Formats: sequence, structure tokens, C-alpha cells
Amino acid sequence: TIMLRGVARVSARGITGVRYNSSTAANPTYDVVIVGGGSAGISLLNNWMKHSTASVDQSGDKFSFAIVEPSSKHYYQPLWTLVGGGVVSNAADSEGDTKDLIPKRAKWFQDKVVAIDPNKNEVNLEKGEKIGYKALVVAAGLQVNFDKIKGLPEALEDPNSPVCSNYSYKYCQKTATAVQNFTGGDAYFTFPTGPVKCAGAPQKIMYLAHDAWKKKNLSPNIYFNSAIGKMFAVDKYREALDKLCDEKGIVRNFGHNLVEVKADEKKAVFQLVPDIVGKDREGETVTVDFDFLHATPLMGPPDFLKETGLVDASGFVSVKKETLQHTEFPNVFSFGDCSNVPTSKTASAVAGQLGVVRYRAGKYLGSQESATPKTADFANFVEGDGPVYDGYSSCPLPVGQSKGIIAEFNFD
Ligand SMILES: Cc1cc2nc3c(=O)[nH]c(=O)nc-3n(C[C@H](O)[C@H](O)[C@H](O)COP(=O)(O)OP(=O)(O)OC[C@H]3O[C@@H](n4cnc5c(N)ncnc54)[C@H](O)[C@@H]3O)c2cc1C
Repeated sequence: TIMLRGVARVSARGITGVRYNSSTAANPTYDVVIVGGGSAGISLLNNWMKHSTASVDQSGDKFSFAIVEPSSKHYYQPLWTLVGGGVVSNAADSEGDTKDLIPKRAKWFQDKVVAIDPNKNEVNLEKGEKIGYKALVVAAGLQVNFDKIKGLPEALEDPNSPVCSNYSYKYCQKTATAVQNFTGGDAYFTFPTGPVKCAGAPQKIMYLAHDAWKKKNLSPNIYFNSAIGKMFAVDKYREALDKLCDEKGIVRNFGHNLVEVKADEKKAVFQLVPDIVGKDREGETVTVDFDFLHATPLMGPPDFLKETGLVDASGFVSVKKETLQHTEFPNVFSFGDCSNVPTSKTASAVAGQLGVVRYRAGKYLGSQESATPKTADFANFVEGDGPVYDGYSSCPLPVGQSKGIIAEFNFD
């Protein structure tokens, strides 16, 4: 049930003769408030509430839920790789209406969270509303910062430039066009510094493009210019991908961080990363001419989290990696791309985490489920404690000719 905290406060103030103050009155309070209705927020809400018309939660309770999500559209981002690669023809297939994905019993605030006060259990929205929570789940994703690479936004906006990126609904269709229009020459695919959602995606599009060009009997020079030092963090998959690149004749330039795109001149500037290319090359840049450029932008934690007191030094929400519970505030949880859990930022990690969040946040609220847990429902259940997340994440890599590698891994 929705408790109107402010109502009680107003009547108490009436008794003591304190003047009614409309700005502090009637903040609605929910058992669970979810910040962000992306893959993590929407799947948690639906997983927990069972289905849109059920009157009892999956946990056997009847908690009140609110979700804050500004966008009227919900996106299934993994599809953007296939749109850019020409496998799925229409980007609109990745888009749905947010309203259709929110169970009827939940309250949707179509607004942005601008501040969180974990000491007051309060979330502030851009339009001025404040909402209270008993348990908070922060699932605000990664912020994609196209503008941190000079010239990139303009190049992406220019329909005639062969510069594209799958990292946005707006631009992924342009990737397919640019792949199709390419007639040969030098094709560059980039990988940035810092956190990346689905770290395999910058190379998946390269293999799909390679396949498309091969079918047209093109044999371009393909370069993977990466700010980091290897193709994949897990050695087993790194070895397989290095071999694959050798077979396809793909050149890997590590320690090359894209810093500028000059669309008119078809030039890209890379800052060399001394830790990878050698200290003697500190401050050096390399400029290349391109005929095709797939750019992966810089990404980072959402700006609004900075002042909340919930984040670590890297800006991500600080949680215990096994329970996804905040390191300081026991009624705050976070999962998906915006938490500091040391695993790859993917929707498959979200799938591995959401049962843990439901159970752990439910346990905080005294859920039925935590009283009589069905241990078999969880991948890893510690008797007498609850489910734990093992770091599961996976990355499906289409490697050409209808073949793929599913790279699965966990914390170890
Ligand atoms: C090109 C591409 C390919 C990918 N491929 C794969 C793949 O093959 N496999 C895989 O598992 N994963 C893949 N991913 C990653 C996957 O999409 C993400 O890991 C997943 O969406 C993370 O879910 P999330 O809810 O944490 O973040 P998101 O889904 O990004 O959702 C975050 C939500 O928070 C909202 N939000 C932001 N700020 C605020 C605010 N201030 N107030 C309220 N709400 C806010 C946003 O509007 C958004 O709806 C891919 C991603 C991309 C871009």
C-alpha cells in the first residue's frame, strides 16, 4: 500500500499548531522505489511483481512499487549490434513503449531523478516532486558521452560521413548504411578507455561488417584501434579472438584512444596510451585516414549520482558484489550498469543479478520469500543467508558465416 507520509505529518503539525507547509507535505512513500526503467529496472519490476495483473508479488507479498524513468520508450540495446550489422533491418524492433512494460499496480513517475538523500530515504525528481522509499534500487545504467570525442557528434549527425556508432538507437541504423555504402579502403573500429557496456560490442560489429564486405568480394584493410591492451579480458576468449582476427587479416592497434574525428577530411586522431605502447611515447598522437569508422564513445556513471553519497571514487554505486546491497545504507541496492560490481556491464549480468536484488531487498522489507526461501529458484544460495551473485556475465560474439562464440564468465 502507498503510505502518504506527509499526510500524517500534516495532521501532527495541526495538533501542535505548526503551520501547514505545502512544499514538505504529502510526499508519497513506497516500499520499493526503482531508479531507471532500462533492462535492469524493468526486469526487476516485472520479475518481482510477477505479471501486470497479479495482486500478489512473486515474493508472496504485496509491496508498493514505484519506478522513475524519464523515457516514454524502452530499448533493447543488444539488438543495435544486429541492426548496424544489417542482420535486423529495422532499429524500431529494439524499441517498445515504456507504459506497456510497467505492471499496472506499480506507479510510474515519468521524470528524471536529480538527487537522492539516503539519510532521509528520499528521491528528488526534476519536476520538483519528492518520493520516499523503504528500499531503493538504483538501476540508472551507463551514461554515453558522445561529446567527449571532439567532432564525433557532428560526424555522426552528418548523413554523408562514413562515421557511425551502434551505441545509440539514433545512430545504429546509420551503421548499416555505412557498411553497405563502403566500397573498400581503410575501415577502423574503435574501443575507448573507461567502462563500456557490452565490451564485446565494438568488435562484434567488426566481424559482421567483415562478413558483409566479404560477401561483396571486398578485401579492405580492417583495423581495431583499442585504448586498452587486449581483445578480451578473459584469456581463453582473448586467444580465440586473436586467432580469429589473424585469420580475417584484422590489424589490432592497442593503446590507441580515439580523441578526435575530422569528418570533412576523413581523418581520425588517436592519443597513444603510454601504459600500453611504452612510456617513451607519452603525449604522442597518431592520425589516420579512414574510409569507414565505427566509433565506440566514452561512457561513465550517470552524473546525477555524484552528489548522492552512494558512489565510490569511480562514480559507480558502491555495493557488496555478492549481495548487491549498498556498502553503507542497508536499504539501498544497485545492479546493472551503474553499480560498481566488478563484472562486465551486460544485460546478461542483469539477468544474473535480478533474483538476488529481489530477494535481498525483499529480505530487508521482511518478505515472505525470505522467511521460506525456495532455494532451487536461485543459481547460488547460501543456506541461512540468501542468494549470492557469482559475477555471471556473457557476451555473444557473432564471428562470421553464421558462427558465434558465447563468452561466459564470472568473478573468478
Ligand atoms: C550496442 C550495444 C550492444 C550490446 N550488446 C549486448 C549483448 O549482446 N548482451 C548483453 O547482455 N548486453 C549487451 N549490451 C548491454 C546492455 O544493453 C546493458 O548492459 C543493459 O541495458 C544494462 O541495463 P541497465 O538497466 O543497467 O541500463 P539501461 O538499460 O541503459 O537503462 C538505464 C535506464 O536508466 C534511465 N535513467 C538514466 N538516468 C536517469 C535518471 N536521472 N532518473 C531516472 N532514470 C534514469 C535511462 O533512461 C534508462 O532507461 C549492449 C549494449 C549496447 C549499447
